Amino acid sequence: ENLANQIAAGEVIERPASVVKELIENSIDAGSTRIRIDFIEAGLKQIVVQDNGSGISPDQIELAFTRHATSKINNEHDLFKVATLGFRGEALASIAAVSHAEILTSDGEHIGARAAFSGGVKKSQEDAAARKGTQITVRDLFFNTPARLKYLKSPRTEIMKIVDIVNRIALGYPQISITLSNKGKVLLRTPGNGNLKQTAANVYGRHIAEKMVEFKADDPDFEINGLLSKPELTRSTRNFMSILLNGRYIKNFKLLNSIMDGYGSRLGTKHYPVAIVRINVDPLLVDVNVHPTKQEVRLSKEKELSRLITTAISDAFINNAE
Ligand code: ADP
Ligand code: MG
Repeated sequence: ENLANQIAAGEVIERPASVVKELIENSIDAGSTRIRIDFIEAGLKQIVVQDNGSGISPDQIELAFTRHATSKINNEHDLFKVATLGFRGEALASIAAVSHAEILTSDGEHIGARAAFSGGVKKSQEDAAARKGTQITVRDLFFNTPARLKYLKSPRTEIMKIVDIVNRIALGYPQISITLSNKGKVLLRTPGNGNLKQTAANVYGRHIAEKMVEFKADDPDFEINGLLSKPELTRSTRNFMSILLNGRYIKNFKLLNSIMDGYGSRLGTKHYPVAIVRINVDPLLVDVNVHPTKQEVRLSKEKELSRLITTAISDAFINNAE
């Protein structure tokens, strides 16, 4: 079972940023309104994620760290209408398999609990005073899988990957206050007041957010809205475009192209906009069970969605009279 956990970990937990992503997604699924993330040494020495969500009752902690244990899905049928970010029940088990992990949690009804896991094995659990919510500390990531360590990039790059994923999650959930810090030094803090423009200002800087226009469109299947940089404010990479499907940050080349198409000749070649495109859709039209990290999704009516995005963006600039 331990080996199986390590193999599973390889699919979900590639690097420190994967740990951060999975833990934040759990915090979001738990209904948190405030999430704090701190890391030390690019997350290899320590990652702490603290939330004010539902917490876990003491007798459910061990189960939460067991592979394929999820409280979010009950049967196959549920798989087709996944509304939560997690559902595979793999993340906590995978993280604990390749680190020293500690959880401090309280559901607000029972007395809180603290438990420790090492290399996938539970080492201890005891009562502990805690506010409602969960704090997970991950130390010495990949201590027992040296091959994984070797495959990592420079600390600078690993930090960039952490910042990138937290930025995109923050843009997907402007109603949640998210604070990211590197050994206590704050890198990102969002207000959590639901205001996308203010959140974008925290992520990209006020000077960029001020040069972004709002857009909105819908059809019977999709509801889209977001922020677009004016054509004169372009970047040299695609990385400043984010597609958030029901809040989930997804990687989808075709939809990125449909954003570009909306700008048409307003962009020069090799110029890319800053764009936040939020899509709300019935979960029945989305298959997120394509890849363990759930960043690739299969979408029914993708063509229709592409057209909607392109038209909405094109219209936004006509309406704003450039
Ligand atoms: P999944 O998210 O796919 O269900 P995880 O391994 O990420 O699987 O988490 C396992 C379970 O642990 C979740 O289904 C949830 O019940 C519980 N859990 C994990 N993190 C939190 C958290 N921050 N707050 C409350 N419950 C949590
Ligand atoms: Mg999860």
